[in-house]
Amino acid sequence: MNRLARIFVAGGDTLLGAALLDHLSECGFINLVGAAADQPDLGDTLAVEAFFEQIKPEFVFLAGGKSGGIRLNRQRPADLMLDNLRTIANVIDAAHRYGAKKLLYMASSCAYPRQAAQPLQVESLLAGPVEPSSEAYATAKIAGWKLCEAYRRQYGCRFITAFPANAFGPHDDFSDESGHVIPALIRRTHEAKLNGERSLTVWGSGSPRREFIYSRDLADACLFVMRHYENEIPINLGGGTDISIAEAARTIAEMVGFRGKLIFDSTKPDGAPFKALDSAALFDMGWKPSTDFRTAIAETYRWYRGSIACGYAIH
Ligand code: GDP
Repeated sequence: MNRLARIFVAGGDTLLGAALLDHLSECGFINLVGAAADQPDLGDTLAVEAFFEQIKPEFVFLAGGKSGGIRLNRQRPADLMLDNLRTIANVIDAAHRYGAKKLLYMASSCAYPRQAAQPLQVESLLAGPVEPSSEAYATAKIAGWKLCEAYRRQYGCRFITAFPANAFGPHDDFSDESGHVIPALIRRTHEAKLNGERSLTVWGSGSPRREFIYSRDLADACLFVMRHYENEIPINLGGGTDISIAEAARTIAEMVGFRGKLIFDSTKPDGAPFKALDSAALFDMGWKPSTDFRTAIAETYRWYRGSIACGYAIH
């Protein structure tokens, strides 16, 4: 992949897509196609087709498809699944037909079986039922992985799949309706501080554990595997921090400067009890993350405050 290669980040408006565009620019890649007004609607077959026919991207990072936190998955499973199915079908097929040299598909750790041994190893994929609250979305993510595999087998395409840990960072969705835990808690904690509240409600028991990865580190891992990984077997992209929701909430409170009490609302769902990835394959190839959890929270909080000062980006 040289710095003039035509690189398409499909889903440049997502958390990971935005981090990828920033990181690729920082690394000197100057031919980022479909990154602005020319970005096709990934759910629109004809638009994706026309884009690939005209631009012929050489490298595709497929980070598109709607996603969201536990509440959105419960309320809008059909929307999430359909959007992801359309996106993968359109982009993967067009990448093949218009000769992309390589494609990296970003699946999701929620595609792992709920009861799989932790940390999650790729051998456990499809070995049992997934977490019911995100089953529709997870099924689409599994379909994306399998579609890449099918194109590899039938056409010899260099299409690879990665399973990322829970990511957070700038450009995230900070809303209660569809945000994941870190951005939603950053916003609520910030508001609680501004309003001088004495307590803050955290959903669930606080005991579920998650492995988090900063979006910039995840973007770096994506670029690394695009360059160095060729296998049909998917690869886990983790290496972030494995902590409980309660610990994460306490760190956020500290970084935001909120001194009130944290109250755990057990009427809200916990979701999967534990999610962390076994990323030994990635580490053995020589990659490691560079941002610790506290720094990543501080940077995300700074970005959030900047975005509200500008009056945009809060969904
Ligand atoms: P998951 O990793 O797919 O389960 O998705 P989430 O990021 O939405 O939730 C992770 C965990 O954080 C669950 O146990 C939630 O109950 C808990 N949590 C605590 N507070 C919040 C919050 O404000 N928003 C979200 N989305 N989850 C929260």
